[in-house]
Amino acid sequence: MDIDANGSERPHATGPAVAASGEAGRRSLIGLPRAALAEALEEIGERPFRARQLWHWIYFRGARDFAAMTSLSRGLRERLSERFSLARPAVSRDQTSRDGSRKWLLRFADGNEAETVFIPEADRGALCISSQVGCSLTCSFCHTGTQRLVRNLDAGEIVTQMLVARDACGEWPSPAGQRLLSNVVLMGMGEPLLNYDNVAAAVRILMDPEGINLSRRRITLSTAGVVPMIHRVGGELGVKLAVSLHAANDALRDVLVPINRKYPLAALMAALRSYPGADNARRITFEYVMLDQVNDTPADARALVQLVRGLPCKFNLIPFNAWPGAAYACSSDAAMARFAGILNAAGYTAPIRTPRGRDILAACGQLRSVSERQRRAAADHGERTE
Ligand code: SAH
Repeated sequence: MDIDANGSERPHATGPAVAASGEAGRRSLIGLPRAALAEALEEIGERPFRARQLWHWIYFRGARDFAAMTSLSRGLRERLSERFSLARPAVSRDQTSRDGSRKWLLRFADGNEAETVFIPEADRGALCISSQVGCSLTCSFCHTGTQRLVRNLDAGEIVTQMLVARDACGEWPSPAGQRLLSNVVLMGMGEPLLNYDNVAAAVRILMDPEGINLSRRRITLSTAGVVPMIHRVGGELGVKLAVSLHAANDALRDVLVPINRKYPLAALMAALRSYPGADNARRITFEYVMLDQVNDTPADARALVQLVRGLPCKFNLIPFNAWPGAAYACSSDAAMARFAGILNAAGYTAPIRTPRGRDILAACGQLRSVSERQRRAAADHGERTE
């Protein structure tokens, strides 16, 4: 095994072959909205009201195959399993960090892979979900930004990340009280607002009270600033919003987060000021990566305070997570403390986020990078030997 010595890798039940062979030709029901589930039942001559029972088995009990659905007749269970599937994607890697965070590399039916990371905290835990394979945004400090966008994940592939994590944590049936998987952050690979329809369908499933039942307050969507979509997130989904700001002026943000050239700060801030449901109880989070001598001076902090004036918000200061070939270094502890101090003095919460899962490359912007590198190396090798 070639994982970092600090991480541990567990054997996993679902080998890479599962999704391919036995499930061939069967349509996955995971990710379908209720109405589409009812239609699927009609296809096999069943009454649509059974969709509710099916929903309960899939999203409340976490059933992985139809045979377990004992409240359905044997005939129905058989007809369902002839046509449909509830299989999880293959888990091609399952690593646990020394700090308790855990990362799954999932391989979907077409061979593409995406990562999901569980970050436990004292009384809860967040699951960091990916929305795309690769990313189109090319943020200059982000390792994912060096990879091209391969494709959007569909709603089922987004929801299934939660199902896999719940399987692994033994959190079925859907627990009402204390649970490890209490929060979801759409902060994995990809830009969720460039895959809005699939992300919205998945978020609606995660929030459904008869299933996984996550409150919209426990779901955070992180965007680099796809301005025209921001209003819809608040109005249609009502989840919390995080914005990857990283700079307080357009000249610098154009370089760090190039989508700023399309939607500059004035447009972004205007969209945030009218974000439905933002108030002091549900503040917008600004993520700000700390880059040594790039965006970390006291003048930058003061400009930030000016920029967000009047907006109910807080900051998340993220120490830059360096990767081979990156053009940046992480700010010094002193610079980060000074920066946070200025934001605090202006009345804003601004914790410096503790990096998690570094030993298993689960940290920001590094998702899928190792497997991607290995794949490329294998491809190069193949070319040479052919
Ligand atoms: N596309 C979305 C969500 C994915 S990135 C967005 O931009 O918000 C999740 C967060 O990790 C973003 O704030 C991103 O800027 C940050 N990030 C990416 N690479 C990083 C790195 N190397 N070090 C620290 N933070 C990074």
